[in-house]
Amino acid sequence: MNHRVGQLRRLVFVLVGLLGWVIVPPNTADAKARNVLFIAVDDMRVELGCYGDTIAKSPNIDRLASQGTLFQRAYCQQAVCNPSRASLLTGLRPDTIRIWDLPTHFREHEPELVTLPQLFKQNGYHAQCVGKIFHNWRQDDYQGDPTSWSVPSQMHYNSHGNDTPQVEGKAPTDYSGVPRTEMCDVPDEAYFDGRIAQLAIDALQQVQDQPFFLAVGFWKPHAPFNPPKRYWDLYDRSDVQPPEPAEAPADVPPLAMHDSREIRRGFKDRPDGRPTVEDTLALRHGYYAAISYVDAQIGKVLDELERLGLRDDTIVVFWSDHGFHLGEHTLWAKTSNFELDARVPVIIATPEHTGGQRAEGLVELLDLYPTLADLCDLQAPENLEGKSLRPLLDEPGGTVKDAVFTQHTRPAYPSTKEPLVAMGYSMRTDQFRYTEWCSVEDGHVMARELYDHEEDPLETANRADDSRYADTMKSLAAQMAATITRPEFTYGQTKMIPIEEALRLIEQHAKPLAAIDVAAVDALGMTLAEDVASDIDSPPYDKALVDGYAVVADDVKSGTARLKILEEVTAGRMPTQPLASGLATRIMTGAPLPDGCDAAVMVETTEVESDAKGGLGHVVIQGKPIKPGVNVMSRAQAMQRGQKVLQAGSLIRPVEVGLLAEVGRVRVKAIARPRVAVLSTGDEVVPAETTPQAAQIRNSNGPLLASFVVSCGAVPIELGIAPDEIGSLRAAIQRGLEADMLVLSGGVSAGVLDLVPQVLSELGVQQVFHKVQLKPGKPVWFGTKTGENADTLVFGLPGNPVGALVAGMLLVRPALRHMLGQPFAATPTFGAVLSTAFKHKGGRPTYHPSVVKSDGTEVTVEPLTWHGSADLCTLSRANALVHFPAEQLEFAAGELVEAVEL
Ligand code: AMP
Ligand code: MG
Repeated sequence: MNHRVGQLRRLVFVLVGLLGWVIVPPNTADAKARNVLFIAVDDMRVELGCYGDTIAKSPNIDRLASQGTLFQRAYCQQAVCNPSRASLLTGLRPDTIRIWDLPTHFREHEPELVTLPQLFKQNGYHAQCVGKIFHNWRQDDYQGDPTSWSVPSQMHYNSHGNDTPQVEGKAPTDYSGVPRTEMCDVPDEAYFDGRIAQLAIDALQQVQDQPFFLAVGFWKPHAPFNPPKRYWDLYDRSDVQPPEPAEAPADVPPLAMHDSREIRRGFKDRPDGRPTVEDTLALRHGYYAAISYVDAQIGKVLDELERLGLRDDTIVVFWSDHGFHLGEHTLWAKTSNFELDARVPVIIATPEHTGGQRAEGLVELLDLYPTLADLCDLQAPENLEGKSLRPLLDEPGGTVKDAVFTQHTRPAYPSTKEPLVAMGYSMRTDQFRYTEWCSVEDGHVMARELYDHEEDPLETANRADDSRYADTMKSLAAQMAATITRPEFTYGQTKMIPIEEALRLIEQHAKPLAAIDVAAVDALGMTLAEDVASDIDSPPYDKALVDGYAVVADDVKSGTARLKILEEVTAGRMPTQPLASGLATRIMTGAPLPDGCDAAVMVETTEVESDAKGGLGHVVIQGKPIKPGVNVMSRAQAMQRGQKVLQAGSLIRPVEVGLLAEVGRVRVKAIARPRVAVLSTGDEVVPAETTPQAAQIRNSNGPLLASFVVSCGAVPIELGIAPDEIGSLRAAIQRGLEADMLVLSGGVSAGVLDLVPQVLSELGVQQVFHKVQLKPGKPVWFGTKTGENADTLVFGLPGNPVGALVAGMLLVRPALRHMLGQPFAATPTFGAVLSTAFKHKGGRPTYHPSVVKSDGTEVTVEPLTWHGSADLCTLSRANALVHFPAEQLEFAAGELVEAVEL
């Protein structure tokens, strides 16, 4: 078969007939297409006859190796089922698809990915799955990956624990007697894999006339080791060797190890909770037997392929998802980065390549996707991270890559109860295995390992601190840094960023809203969107600045005078007669002055002499000398009609509200107030008016955040409480996305029920960051949803009220103020002197509730004894948050610190 056939398959032949477009499937082209038989095994380490193992009996896999190319140095991307398989089947690294645990399905993050079988399906192949190919359990929303296949999968979704012997009549005797193993004298079909072989044979018979991608996934040798007795009988217990090396590597960092729970959970009653020497031999015996059992099932399928005459048109691929420990290094099962877990058997047998080849080059399981696409001439997605291994099939002595990568989480099985702490990245080069365990909080390397495979193939000694290897360590670290990009990390999310970075990102997304017309009296806290000019002079006339007498200054230049009172002008009235020398007019503060007057004297320096004839009498002045202009203000001295008195961009404070009134502006153009939807989430959260039952908590965040929004000048829209349930969250969040900003609380930490980021992403909200170096307030989430006119900003604040408020003050308020039209700025701080010494754990910048006092000369601040991020009570006694930087752990009394006003 030549490559042209494959190319033809890629083309879609269209005929224009009477009935319209007709698509001709690839197998009706002028030559036979090439099939793929894709055989997976579960947890099989490199322990097969064809790989040189002298005890394992694997004649059928050995036969396949003699017909194909055996990859001596193939490695999985993560030594645990779901990440390894998801990586292989998507052709992407675990970091790229963010799959590092068992329960998370890759489509939760990447719904549109085209998997390896799906690519074949899209190219006209019949893609079928029998047995375990995708992960097998705890992914109930997906149950495998139905979109990858042409027909429903069979025997693909179940628990390994359910693979108990199925026989007619009474339950068979178990001759093993050792936990995590089983030895029953039953037919192959009593267990999953025997039935899977049968289903695969049926499938081959049915699909033989069309191009097919048939995936056959066997569940063994995965624990429990329960092959039928006849496979145990292939081995003599006395031939089974104890683990080598039995000890953990010298100088191994504890992070590299794990609790071996998958096997050890069966041995809790043994001394130290470990299998005894005899148990260990039984387990190792059972594992060999399971290899032979699965080998026999593979043999049946290969036999049928040959019987049907399909061997020459079919590429057969054999792989295991990862390796396994059977007591070596004191470890059991997988989830480490050691060679025993990382290395896997891989065989590719193509019709045109010579059989019995051994490829020495380093390869990765994620290379299988591009390899099969290449061999079948399918156009693979461009973002695949593996390489086609065709060069090694053509030339088994060659290389395709200098280094291969395996990674694992710590803890080994991260969950809500055991959150992710570290990721170990392990790089295998020709000679070395180099591993870095990185903190997921800030990426720093917590531990390193180096194994020199030239002198220490069993990895018995970590050489990371051995001075002989100092240069090697440096160059391997550089090589690792240059070859793989670590994700911006946290478990399932991105890395925790500094607050300055968070503010920079918020600034990029927050935009001032459009201007609206508002009543000036409602505009407090808004930003003026127009220049405002005065329509009057101020003062509108020459006016008196004191209660007293309008005079001609020249009359009072010595400070004393006796003047005839001309008239009395009361408030709101105009003078009726002009003033002349020898006369005075009685006036009130602010009153208009009569013509001819150029100064005023204060009433306090005067006495009135009454007039017997009933006139107003005389005023006798005895005070300081008076000059023209004293105690009077001339018209328009403060503000002229037509003069600009307020500028667009000004913040409208009470003074501006007054000025607007003075210049006759009842309505003004101002930047609209952001409408901010406030949603509290959490099954435990109940409204304030209810009495909380056990495990319930009143919704303090809703009212707190709504009033916080008001204090920022924005308008809250209270959406109440949504439980931790996708449907309710979706409906509430959808409503919230109609606002200018959505502020959520709760559900953004890292728990299983922290569904908020997931629902936001489904609703098209793009995450900008998740988690900020801030205490309290770390889990804050920020993203945006592109809208028709403007984007909606979304803040997911922590559930704990103090965390929510602190994150609100430091991150949400700058956004709101900028949306309100003010220049973007961090929340202002002020300096104060610590009145008592203070210590904190560091790690993150801390904002601590404190009381600020001023005695007129010095501003001092006292941190309060505070009970953490749920303690609103203490916070309410505080009037400031003191900022304690992360780097400094101890602060002395008298030290100057920065604080934020509460
Ligand atoms: P979460 O961020 O959802 O993990 O919540 C952290 C803590 O905050 C939990 O103890 C919640 O009970 C509490 N919490 C969550 N939402 C609220 C709320 N609306 N009001 C008061 N406390 C809350
Ligand atoms: Mg597995």
